[in-house]
Amino acid sequence: MRSAVRSAARLCLAVEADGPAGYSKDAGEPVTVADFGAQAVLLGVLATEYPRDTVIAEEDSRQVTRHGVEGEVAAAVSGVLGRGVSDDEVLAWIDHRGNGGLRTWAVDPLDGTRGYLRGDQFAVAVGLIVDGMAVAGVLGCPRLELSGMQGVMVWGGPGMGTYVEALAGGSPRRIAVSTVADPGRARILGSVEPSHGDPEFLQGLIDGVGLGGGWVRIDSEAKYAAVAAGIAEVYVRPRNNPEWRERLWDHAAGIAVLTGAGGRVTDLDGAPLDLTTGAMLTRNRGLLATNGAMHQAVLSAVAEST
Ligand code: AMP
Ligand code: MG
Repeated sequence: MRSAVRSAARLCLAVEADGPAGYSKDAGEPVTVADFGAQAVLLGVLATEYPRDTVIAEEDSRQVTRHGVEGEVAAAVSGVLGRGVSDDEVLAWIDHRGNGGLRTWAVDPLDGTRGYLRGDQFAVAVGLIVDGMAVAGVLGCPRLELSGMQGVMVWGGPGMGTYVEALAGGSPRRIAVSTVADPGRARILGSVEPSHGDPEFLQGLIDGVGLGGGWVRIDSEAKYAAVAAGIAEVYVRPRNNPEWRERLWDHAAGIAVLTGAGGRVTDLDGAPLDLTTGAMLTRNRGLLATNGAMHQAVLSAVAEST
């Protein structure tokens, strides 16, 4: 899957060079040819290598044909695979969902599409869930700089450790969360999009915990990679919108990568995430991902503020 994520990330950058158009999905979220193409690449590999495994992925072919971009998607996929693929083949890969297997792959082919369109951060995210546990994850972050590398892939999981390597190639290097336990030095990450993040709540939390390391807004699951690599300590997803439930594909890869690096992830009440409820995390609201050392202080402040 590391090799598949590398190809998917390459596809995103190739489409970007053409000045990608943002199309609107049913719920108004933007989507691009790169979202569809990256999903085809990733699910094509899953369909071949692990055909039975269940797949929970963000995009579906209905949106591709609705916008009439199947030809463009097939061309982008052909470009990275280095061989011709038909529109039908690509549409079938996008809709591949496995065959009832007990292992589940959670796939967000292009997380942070708004960031991608703005020229900011985005991530290709693939997480593997076994028995309700995020056991392995790969995050391709073409615009993230970590450990002196520009454009990285961060991968790993509990029991495996977590590693960073340049998307352009090179050997993996082990990474770990920071040991910062002093709130005055802790750095907090949130969404760029105000509607995804509730800036007012986050500011209240920063004041309540006395988080003094600065607030950095970045798009996508790249936030998990940043905490895993020790360049930030706290990532919070508030629960401002009562209707919103977190999506499995926005977190599965990140949870595996962060726990493999020594971090911790719960919901905002401190409860473990239930990853067995399908695409939506219906049993949890809000989310807290930290280096571990900062976890309890943030949970206590949330409990006091609500
Ligand atoms: P971010 O990169 O932090 O802005 O998060 C991107 C993700 O936010 C998308 O992949 C969506 O699944 C998710 N999202 C969309 N609407 C909402 C919402 N109202 N509240 C929280 N997250 C959302
Ligand atoms: Mg997403």
